[in-house]
Amino acid sequence: MFLKKINSVRHTLAFRLTLWYAGIFMLTSCVAFLFFYFLITSVIRDRTDQDLLGEARTLSSILRLQGINAVRRQIVYEAQAAGEKKIFFRLLSLDGQEFSSSNMSYWRDIGVAKAAIEQLIVENQPVFRTVNLPDRKHNIRVLYAIVGRNIILQLGQSMENYTRFIEAFRKIFVTTMASLFVFAAIVGWFMARRALAGVEAVTRTARQISEGSLKERVPVKKYQDEIDQLALTFNQMLDRIQTLVTGIREISDNIAHDLKSPITRIRGISEVSLTAGASEKEYESMAASTIEECDRLLDMINTMLVISRTEAGVNKLDAKKLDIGTVVRDACELFQAPAEDKDIRLICRAAGNFSISGDNRLIQRMIANLLDNAIKYTPAGGSVEVKVDSVSSDGVAVSVKDSGIGISEEDRPRIFERFYRCDPSRSEAGIGLGLSFARAIARAHGGDIVVASEPNRGSIFTVTLPKTGL
Ligand code: ADP
Repeated sequence: MFLKKINSVRHTLAFRLTLWYAGIFMLTSCVAFLFFYFLITSVIRDRTDQDLLGEARTLSSILRLQGINAVRRQIVYEAQAAGEKKIFFRLLSLDGQEFSSSNMSYWRDIGVAKAAIEQLIVENQPVFRTVNLPDRKHNIRVLYAIVGRNIILQLGQSMENYTRFIEAFRKIFVTTMASLFVFAAIVGWFMARRALAGVEAVTRTARQISEGSLKERVPVKKYQDEIDQLALTFNQMLDRIQTLVTGIREISDNIAHDLKSPITRIRGISEVSLTAGASEKEYESMAASTIEECDRLLDMINTMLVISRTEAGVNKLDAKKLDIGTVVRDACELFQAPAEDKDIRLICRAAGNFSISGDNRLIQRMIANLLDNAIKYTPAGGSVEVKVDSVSSDGVAVSVKDSGIGISEEDRPRIFERFYRCDPSRSEAGIGLGLSFARAIARAHGGDIVVASEPNRGSIFTVTLPKTGL
């Protein structure tokens, strides 16, 4: 269980970020430590070298002023004063032969470096060497310097302080690094968790949604950072999905509702035909009603299919150059009779020629749908006016204006949805597919439909289509 948990943490982004953070932190600290280490060790070595040089200078002036015997005494005295295990002096001739020294019992193993003496003679500059004896803990810094005529001083000092410092430094380094690593890991983990909290919120919401609740939204903190952008985009996507899902639900409810009535009627007719001992004429009438209902159903299903195909661009348009003015005039002629029957004045203002590239059958259907609605939703005594105009150098607009019942502000954005019918118009015949088909046709031709309306005053539906040259 515990192992499983560790394993799952190991694969998290927070864990990887923590490791990166701790790693980079450690690397930077190591570089800083090494820099100080080299700086401090070189300072200590320089100071040791300066001490040795100072000693050599003192001995050189004693030699000059008081002679070699004074120097001999001085080196014995100084070795004793500093500690015979800390420092030693040797006086050598130019060929490296020792002729005097401090107590060398502790330093017996340190010889005279021939190369150092040669270098000293050639360069006439003090020469330093660091000597490491196998059984000694500390290195020894050795100076070769000419202190008088034909006299070389070999002066050695144990680098005990230096080694002690390095050891202390190493201990501090290891403990500091270990605690820094723990500290960096804790801080890194905390920071990574904080940074990723937003991502976790998105994941949690996505999980809740996958379990069925489309109403959940990711909280937005208003920092305007990347996580907020992610949350906002995610919420926008959810809004869109919710709208689509609601739309689909409504459409399927509407389909079910619209299919139910004709099917119930067909079932009723069939039931009557089975139970009642009707005459042949009555049977004929029942069969005719069944066919009529079936045709209505088929018409509805076919219209739905055609809308879907037109919207998806599956149905290839049989596009030809046609004059939209002529199509509108023909449609007005066709609808003149039904308008008169309902005592509605149908005015056609489509005198000019406006050439478009379109599918004649579909364009006719689109205009017929708009005219049919205008007459259907206008009470007797009203008027319907159809106009064709240029809207720009490359667009033509067909508008159908009526003085009918109008469409409320809430209904207006929805009337182009499939099966949507506004409440006041439910008493009229129709299935709510006419406008969605009209819009699908307009869009398939590179145009669109918009509506402007005022309840009880009337509506104007305007189709815009791209023009082609005559
Ligand atoms: P329907 O078969 O119901 O006419 P449509 O898709 O053609 O379906 O129209 C959808 C709804 O838009 C109608 O039910 C009606 O409520 C409203 N509508 C369409 N045209 C008009 C209009 N000219 N005046 C008022 N309401 C309209």
